[in-house]
Amino acid sequence: MVQCYERMSRVKKWDKVFQSPAKFGGWIYGVYLCVICYVGFEFNTHFKQRSLHQLEQHVSQYQSRLNNQLQRFAHLLYSIEAYQRASSDITPEQFYHLAQSQLAGLELELSLESYAIIERSQVLSLEQKYRSLGFFDFTVRLPNRDSGLFLTTLKAAPVSEFGHLLGSAVAIVDPFIQRIGNNELQAVKWHQAQRWSVVIEQFDMQRPQALRALGIGFQLNHLLEGLFGQLYQTSGHHMHVIANEHLVFSSDWQNQFQLTEKQAGITEEIDFFGTPISMHLYTQAQLTPSLLNNYTLIILAVTLIAAALGFMVLMQVRYLTARHDTINNLVEERTASLAQANQQIQHESNKRLAALQQHIVAERKYKSLFVNSSEGLFVLDKYGVLVDANPAFRSLLLGDAHQNTRLTLSDLMLDGDVAERWQKMVEQLQPHEELEWLAGSGQSRGVWVRQTGSWICHSHEVIYEGRITDITALKLFNEQLKYKAQHDSLTDLLNRQTFLQLVEASRTESPGQFVLLYLDLDRFKLINDTLGHLAGDKLLIEFAARMRELVGGFGDIARLGGDEFAILLDVEKLTAPLELLLEDILAAIRVPFEYQGMAHTVSGSVGVRRFTAPCLNYEAEKLLHDADVAMYEAKKRGKNDYHIFTSAIADEASRRLQVERELQTLDMDQELSLRFQPIYCSFGKNIVGFEALVRWHSPQLGVVSPAEFIPIAEECAQIVKLGQWVFKNAMLFKHQLPDDDLFISINVSPIQLQHKGFMNWLMAQFEDAKYRPSHFKIELTESAMMTEENSLVAPLQKLHGLGFGIYIDDFGTGYSSLSRLNVLPVDGVKIDRAFINGIEGTGKPRQLIEAICAMAKSFNLTVTAEGIEQLAQLQTLSTLYCQQMQGYFMSKPLSGFEALQLLHHQASKNLLNEVS
Ligand code: C2E
Ligand code: MG
Ligand code: MG
Repeated sequence: MVQCYERMSRVKKWDKVFQSPAKFGGWIYGVYLCVICYVGFEFNTHFKQRSLHQLEQHVSQYQSRLNNQLQRFAHLLYSIEAYQRASSDITPEQFYHLAQSQLAGLELELSLESYAIIERSQVLSLEQKYRSLGFFDFTVRLPNRDSGLFLTTLKAAPVSEFGHLLGSAVAIVDPFIQRIGNNELQAVKWHQAQRWSVVIEQFDMQRPQALRALGIGFQLNHLLEGLFGQLYQTSGHHMHVIANEHLVFSSDWQNQFQLTEKQAGITEEIDFFGTPISMHLYTQAQLTPSLLNNYTLIILAVTLIAAALGFMVLMQVRYLTARHDTINNLVEERTASLAQANQQIQHESNKRLAALQQHIVAERKYKSLFVNSSEGLFVLDKYGVLVDANPAFRSLLLGDAHQNTRLTLSDLMLDGDVAERWQKMVEQLQPHEELEWLAGSGQSRGVWVRQTGSWICHSHEVIYEGRITDITALKLFNEQLKYKAQHDSLTDLLNRQTFLQLVEASRTESPGQFVLLYLDLDRFKLINDTLGHLAGDKLLIEFAARMRELVGGFGDIARLGGDEFAILLDVEKLTAPLELLLEDILAAIRVPFEYQGMAHTVSGSVGVRRFTAPCLNYEAEKLLHDADVAMYEAKKRGKNDYHIFTSAIADEASRRLQVERELQTLDMDQELSLRFQPIYCSFGKNIVGFEALVRWHSPQLGVVSPAEFIPIAEECAQIVKLGQWVFKNAMLFKHQLPDDDLFISINVSPIQLQHKGFMNWLMAQFEDAKYRPSHFKIELTESAMMTEENSLVAPLQKLHGLGFGIYIDDFGTGYSSLSRLNVLPVDGVKIDRAFINGIEGTGKPRQLIEAICAMAKSFNLTVTAEGIEQLAQLQTLSTLYCQQMQGYFMSKPLSGFEALQLLHHQASKNLLNEVS
């Protein structure tokens, strides 16, 4: 990454260098164009000059060739002239022979010619002369218009056309004469086409004044043909030779190239012995113009190509620059990202380095932890074989014996099932939660361990890293805790919760008959209160031991709380009928137990609930409650007995529950009212007081009898509040009574009297003089008085001391010991209406009431008979020691208003009687 970054940086540097041509490409290209144009131009010039030079060379070459030929003519001519000069007179034959000898063998047809230079005036003389010499048809043919000197052909040899040549004349001009005079060669153009002669002056020794000339005649075109006829074939050139504006020669004899329409490559003016002729040379390039031969075009093309190439290069450079810019941007971006990545990598690597260092430190730590850990650490391979274990593991489970042997964890497990399960987990490499197992090996036995660990993939290998902790102590502790949680600490019996679970299990699991017993010790509270809690505890422990002895072998016994116990029996396991067992249980309870050297006896009440499993309709709680209800019934029926649960009891209990529930939410002012039943004097004539009787009209349950709800209110502690309400309203009624002597009898529950709050409240009601306690009588049922005797003595005495009358209600039903009447501050008794029935006869009821009355008399107690429904009963009682009468015969319980009306009515009746 770092290298890459450096490379990117280098690219960036180059990039600046690379960018400049792109920026200045325009003007560089301009310079480049100028240069190549200049070079092109230079080349063009050079090639032009070179070709010109070549042409010049060619022309001079051709010229020299022509000159050479002419030189030869000149030499020949001069030599002939010299010869002629030497031989003063030469005959025509000699002349002919001379010509033939000198000119023979030449490739060109030449003729040796002799001329006379004459004036027009000399023509005749000359003609005559030559005609005279035998040339009879000699005629001088002068040009018509010219005047001056003429050159006239006199002799010509050896060509056959002499005849024609003789006499031909051309006008000669001054330059000709000058040249001739200077002994220079002079070319003469004859009138015949292409006929030329090269002429020199011929000196005639004999007639020096006569102008004579000697020349060689030839066809110029033939001469040129001989020289340049093959020019095109040899050099590719063509040539035009023009003399006196006439074309004298053309190498393109077929006029193939139409040279006359073309501009000559070079034109060379030649002095042709005094006559100028021009030589026009046409080059190959001119003749067959070809792009390949046209240097200008080639150079132009090359220049253009170079320019185009340059342009392409420029475009390429621009394109590359553009691309380069893109790449550059890319490179910059990449460089930035690389730099960032580099930083990240560095950061990462620093982090990793730190992590590695930490890892190393941690590894060292963990290694030391592994070795020094007090917990057993171990490693298994994927087959569950122990591959490593720390000293703690070895000392806990292995010792030295297994150090070198192949050992799996399941070898250490004492429980075969656990070992099998573990082996399956190993086979499936299955993850697991905490495992607890009992370990045992040759070295260690019965060690409970807790195993945690997991399968991990380490260096392509699956291993198990685990940890074991010795939890033997914890297990024991837990077992103890569990036991404690399930058992009652005092009696070591099962506790309520465990027992309920047991009942629940029996009810739902195995089918069968079961019996649930609910046991309650009668009068246990008394033992506790009188002998103390230690005695109570001892009694409970003793009871538990007896029950264990009796049913422990086949039943489960539990203490539900206080003095309540429960037993679950499987009927199948019973060896005797259930009733016998129940009797035995009651008998075992009754066996006196010793405390501090004294024997104490208690009895028990047992509720029995049978059920058949599976019993899906009732839960364990309900079954136990049913047994409790049955036990309550047994208690109600006199205790020291058992009672088997029936649905009737259940209904009763349910009704009780309903009443109790309604009582909890009782709105007393709305739902309660007081009725007042008049109490009469012994003859039933005058009202002496009223008994306040509470009425409850419940919105849910309707009218509920006090005989039903008072005992329930007593149990659920509502009685205190209710009693206060009754007292308060009775006092209000008392306040309305016209006669101050009339008393109000109020039924009071012993619980009210035992309640300090009630007593204080009651005292407070009588603190002012508005009410006098002597106007109120307190009725306590006989049974209540007897059972709560001790605790009632003090409050009753207090009330009695204040002036309240104390009456024993329902007298005769409570089996009270008459001797106790002395102990209690009682002012009177109210004989229960059960004893009133049948007293009008002479049978047992009569005797019984007489006995009661006699007894009351002996104790000096006021006797009130209640429940008088017939006149006869009233009459009978009037004869006995019975001071007060109460019953429907005289009056039913009345509302306050009715009672007041009754009083009013009675007062007016008494008044009438008195008047009459
Ligand atoms: P009790 O105190 O013995 O009250 C007398 C009961 O006998 C009353 O029933 C009354 O209506 C009834 N009675 C009176 N004369 C006759 C008669 O000639 N024939 C018949 N068959 N019955 C007669 P009640 O009012 O239903 O009261 C029942 C019991 O409820 C009372 O018996 C008393 O123990 C208790 N009770 C009533 N009111 C109160 C109260 O305010 N406080 C407490 N603690 N108990 C009360
Ligand atoms: Mg009463
Ligand atoms: Mg009564």
